[in-house]
Amino acid sequence: MVTLEKMAHLAQESRFDSLGPAVSIDPEKLGALGEGTRHDVCASTFSPQSPALPGICHAFAHDGRCVSLFKTLYTNYCGHQCNYCTNATNCSRKTRAFSYTPEELVGITLSLYRSNYIEGLFLSSGSGRNEDCIMEKMVETARILREKHDFNGYIHLKVLPGADRSHIQEAMELADRVSINLEAASASHMNEICATKNYESDILQRQRYIRDLMSKANLPAGQTTQLVVGAGKESDEEIFRRVLYEYQEIGVRRAYYSAFSPQKGTPFANREPQPMWREHRLYQMDWLYRIYRFHPQEIEHAFDENGFLQNSDPKMAIARELMDSPVDPNIASYQELLRVPGIGPRSAQRIVALRQRQPIAGKAELASLGVRIKRAAPFLKINGWRDATLEMWSA
Ligand code: SF4
Repeated sequence: MVTLEKMAHLAQESRFDSLGPAVSIDPEKLGALGEGTRHDVCASTFSPQSPALPGICHAFAHDGRCVSLFKTLYTNYCGHQCNYCTNATNCSRKTRAFSYTPEELVGITLSLYRSNYIEGLFLSSGSGRNEDCIMEKMVETARILREKHDFNGYIHLKVLPGADRSHIQEAMELADRVSINLEAASASHMNEICATKNYESDILQRQRYIRDLMSKANLPAGQTTQLVVGAGKESDEEIFRRVLYEYQEIGVRRAYYSAFSPQKGTPFANREPQPMWREHRLYQMDWLYRIYRFHPQEIEHAFDENGFLQNSDPKMAIARELMDSPVDPNIASYQELLRVPGIGPRSAQRIVALRQRQPIAGKAELASLGVRIKRAAPFLKINGWRDATLEMWSA
C-alpha cells in the first residue's frame, strides 16, 4: 500500500519523474493536500476498524472490483466557512495553502499507476477563491489523463458546491464517479454548521444537475454523497429521511457517513466528538434499506423516541418490535427469513435453495449455511425445536 509518507519519499527522490511525465513535487505540498482529505470518506470502503488513510483510499468500481486510489485535494484553500473544517477561512490554525497544477497531478497519478501502487484517482478540493476556476482545473486534470495519456484507471471527481452545470457535465464525461457532499440533513442544519453554503442552490440543485445529465453521460459508478454526522444537531431519523430522498429522488448510488471529530482552530473545536458507533449504526441502517430492502416504515422502528439509533443492531431492534412469532425456515419466504437477526441475504438464499431438495433438519444445518445461530435462535422454530426465550413469546 502506498501511504503519504511513501509518496513524499518518492517525491523527495524525484521518483515521480521516472515513469510518468517529469514532475518535481514538494513533499510538504503532497502531505498537506493528502492530509486535507482525511475526513472525506466518500468513495472509500467503510470499515470502522480502519478509518480512511490520507494518501490512499479504496472504492468499488462499477464491476464490483475494489480499487486503490490516490486521494488528494487539488487545493487546500477554501473560501467557505464550514465550522468543522481546517481548510475553512474561519479556522484560526492556518496551514499553508497549496495547490497542484493539472500537470503535476497527472504526473503523480501516472507514475503511481504505472508502478502499480494505485488503480485510479480520487480528486477532491477546497473551493479556492472561485469554485468554477478550481472545477476547471480538476476537469483539466482528468482530461489530460484520459485524452493525452489514454488513462484507463478509475477516476472519482468531487463536484464543488455551486459548481457550474457545464463543468459538472464535463466532469461526468471523464470520470467513473462524481459526488457532492451533502454534509447536513437539511437547510436548517446546514445553517448550524456553515453560513456560506446554500443547501438548496449550492448542493441539492447540483445533485439534480447530475441526475438529469446521467442519461447523456457514461458514468459507470454513478453519483454518491456524504454526511458529517453530529456536527449539527440532526437526529438519525432526520438523516435517514434525507438519505431516503437521496436514494429515491436523486438516485445516488451510495450515501457515506462520517462521524464529526473536532479539529483544533475551528469554531467547533470544543464540541463533543461523535462516537464511531453512531457512524457504524447508520451504515447498518443504510444496509437494511439498500441491501435487505426493508421498507422505510420498518426501519422507523429502530429509532428511539428522540429519533436516535441506540448502540445496538438496528435489525435486532426492528425484529423485537415487529416479529410476532418465531419463523420456521422450512416454510418462511425469503423476505421473512431476511428479517431474522443472524440471517443475511446469502444465508437466506442458501436456505431457500436447500429446502427445495430436502427439509432443514436443525441448528447445525442452518449454521453450515451461514446463519449466526446465537442471534437467530430466539426468532426460529424448526421441527419442534424452539429456543425462543424472548419475553414477548414466552406465554
Ligand atoms: S466546502 Fe467546507 S468542508 Fe469543503 S473544504 Fe471548504 S470549508 Fe472545508
